[in-house]
Amino acid sequence: MSNPASRIDELRSAIRAHDDAYYGADAPTIPDADYDDLVRELRVLEAEHPDLVTPDSPTRRPGAAQGPTPFAPVKHSVPMMSLDNAMDFDELKAWGERTSKRLEAAGRTSGVRYTCELKIDGLAVSIRWENGVYVQAATRGDGRTGEDVTANVGVIATVPHQLSGEPPEVLEARGEVYLPLEAFRELVARTEADNDEAERAGRKPKPVPVNPRNAGAGSLRQKDSSVTAGRGLSWWCYQLGELVGAPHPPSHSEALSWMGSLGLPINPETTTFDTLEEVYDFCERWEANRHDLPYEIDGIVVKVDDLESREVLGATAKAPRWAIAYKLPPEERTTTLVDIQVSVGRTGRATPFAVLEPVFVGGSTVSMATLHNEDQVALKDVRPGDTVVVRKAGDVIPEVVGPVLDVRPDGLEPWRFPRTCPACGEPLVRAEGEVDHRCVNAECPARRLARISHFASRGAMDIEGLGERQIELFLDLGLLEDVADIYALDLAAVRDLDGYGDRAVANLSAAIEASKQRPLANLLFGLNIVHLGPTGAQLLVEHLRTLDAIMAADPEEIAGIDGIGPVIARSVHDFFADPANRELVARLVEAGVTTAAPERDDSQQLEQVLSGRSVVVSGTLDGYTRDAASEAITARGGKAPGGVSKSTLALVVGDSPGASKVTKAEKLGVPIIDEEGFEHLLRTGELPDGTNQA
Ligand code: NAD
Repeated sequence: MSNPASRIDELRSAIRAHDDAYYGADAPTIPDADYDDLVRELRVLEAEHPDLVTPDSPTRRPGAAQGPTPFAPVKHSVPMMSLDNAMDFDELKAWGERTSKRLEAAGRTSGVRYTCELKIDGLAVSIRWENGVYVQAATRGDGRTGEDVTANVGVIATVPHQLSGEPPEVLEARGEVYLPLEAFRELVARTEADNDEAERAGRKPKPVPVNPRNAGAGSLRQKDSSVTAGRGLSWWCYQLGELVGAPHPPSHSEALSWMGSLGLPINPETTTFDTLEEVYDFCERWEANRHDLPYEIDGIVVKVDDLESREVLGATAKAPRWAIAYKLPPEERTTTLVDIQVSVGRTGRATPFAVLEPVFVGGSTVSMATLHNEDQVALKDVRPGDTVVVRKAGDVIPEVVGPVLDVRPDGLEPWRFPRTCPACGEPLVRAEGEVDHRCVNAECPARRLARISHFASRGAMDIEGLGERQIELFLDLGLLEDVADIYALDLAAVRDLDGYGDRAVANLSAAIEASKQRPLANLLFGLNIVHLGPTGAQLLVEHLRTLDAIMAADPEEIAGIDGIGPVIARSVHDFFADPANRELVARLVEAGVTTAAPERDDSQQLEQVLSGRSVVVSGTLDGYTRDAASEAITARGGKAPGGVSKSTLALVVGDSPGASKVTKAEKLGVPIIDEEGFEHLLRTGELPDGTNQA
C-alpha cells in the first residue's frame, strides 16, 4: 500500500485532470461513478490524515477546469456551491439526523420540511435579471468565479428576456441547463448525417456526442451563440441567488413558486415533504422511473425548505449543509475485462462475450456482456486486461462501451478470434461475406446441448424442469444424445441422481408427457431447422396441415407460401431430406408427438397491437428468421423498416446485430430489447416493464 501522502497527491492530480476533461473540454474519459470513487477515497484519506488537508484540495471546492477558458470571468455575488452526496438511504438518513441535531441544538425544534428536486444531469448556471430584463448568465466555475455565457444562455428558448409580473431590482436564479433527450437524438442524427457527407467529401468526421450531459455542456460553451441556438437546450430553475428590491420568501418552496410566477421554469416534479420517510419514497419512485423522463437525471436533491434553518446550518467551503444529493445508481462504470470467450449456439454460431470483473451497474451486477462478433470486438478494440466502460441503463442488455485507453497496461495484444471451437476443438469457420464464425461440427457437444435445450424451451416443446443444467447432466451420463431421447429418458436412473427426488422426477415425467400435446408448429420450431422461426413454422402448418405433407413438400411448394422465402424453404426441405433427421422425426412420432394442425379457425386475425409503429430487428433471433420477425410485426399492423430512426419504437437485437444499428439506437435513445422483450411486444404492443424508453 502506498503511503497516504503520495496516494493523496496521486488522487488530487487525477481528479484535477478529470475536472479539466469534464468541465473544460466537456469530454470526460471515465464514468462519473468512477470519478466519484476517487473523490470519496481522497475524502476518507483526508479525514484520516487531517494534517495532509490543503485548502485547494478538490474536496474543499467545487470542481472546475484549471486551464484558461474562452469566456470572460464573472464573479458570483452569492457563491455557487457543489452538493454533498448520499450514496444510499443510510447516508441520507445520517444527513437527516445530523441536520435535525444541528437545528435542535440551535433551538429550532419544530421539525424539518424537505423539498425534493430531480437532480438534472446538466450544467449549473446563474442567470441575472435587472428590473426584469435579462442581463447576464454565468457558469459555476470554481464557485466564486464562473464563465460569462450571457450570449449563449440568451438563446435558450425557456430563458425569458423579460420577466413577467412584478420583478425585483435584481433577481439571480440558479438552475441547470440541459439537453433534452429529443434534442440530443437530433444532434446525434445531424452529426452522423454531416459525417456521412464529410466522409464522401474526404473531410474529417466530427466526434458523435456520447451523452446528453456532455453534449449539453459542450453546446452551451460554444464560442458562437448561433451554434448554441440550434441545439435545443433547455433549463430548470432550482435556486434563488442574489435578490435586491424584494423581500426574500421565507422558504425555498415559496421562493420557487414566486420565481415560477415571474416566468421561470420550475420542474413540476419538485415536492415538499414533512418526513424523511416520504423523502425516501420520492427517491425510490424516481430511481424506478428515471427513464420515463424526457431528460436525464443522476439523483434527487433534498433541501431543507425553511430559509432561517438554512442560515443556521450554513455551509462548508464546498457545499451547503442544508442540502444533499441522493445519487441514483450509476449506469456506466469501469471494470476489468478479464477475458473474451466464445460460446457456441445450436446452429454452431460462435459468439464472443466479455468476461468481466463483476461490477454493479444500472441496478444489477454485470459479469458478462456479449461482444456480438469479431468485427464488433475489433471496432471497440477491447483487449483482455483492459479497463473497460460498461453501460447498463434500465433493462437494456449490458454493453461494453470501450476501453479506457489512458490506463491500458503495456503490451496488451489485440484479441484474435479463436481458430477452433472451444467445445469440440474442430475449426471455427467464417464464411466469405458473413460476420459470424461457426463451428461446423454437427456433433459438437455445445451444439448438441443448445439443440436439446432449444427443443425443451418455452417457445418450442416447453418441458419444464429440463433446463440447460439438467440436460448437461443427462448428456454427461449418457442418458440423452438427441431430442428424441427425451421421450425414452430412463427416469429410474434420473431418480438416483443428486437433487432428483420423487417429486422432481414425477414433475419432469409429467412435463415430458404434456409436451407431446404441443402444437405441430412448436414441434417444428423445436427441431432446430436453420432459419425456421415460430412464425415460419406456423405458416407451414397453416398451409400444409400435417407433418407428412411438410416433410414431403418440395422447396418450390414451400416457397409458394406467403411469408416464407426461398432460403427458409430450401432449409426446411434439406432438413427433411436428410435421412438422419427423418429417423429422428420418426422416433418422435413414435413417441406420440403432435403431427397435424388443429381444426382450422379462419376467423382468427391477430390483434393489431403494433398499428403504425416501427420495430427494427437486427441480428439473429433464436425463434425467428429475419422474414418471420418482419412478418410477425406486420401481421400486427406494424412496420419493420431496415434502419433505426428516432420514430422507431424499439430495436430488437439478436445474435450479431449490426453495429451501426445498435450504436444509432443508443444515440437516439431508441429502446433496445432482446428476443424475450420482442415476444412481449408482439403479445401486448408494449415494451417490457423497465425498458429504457429514453
Ligand atoms: P454534483 O453534480 O454532485 O452536485 C452539484 C450540481 O448538481 C450543481 O452544481 C448543479 O449543477 C446540479 N444540480 C442538478 N439539479 C439540481 C438541483 N435541483 N438543485 C441543486 N443542484 C442541482 O457535484 P458537482 O460538483 O457539480 O460535480 C460532480 C459531478 O460531476 C459528479 O456527478 C461527478 O461524477 C461529475 N464529474 C465527472 C467527471 C468525470 O471525469 N467523469 C469529472 C468531474 C466531475
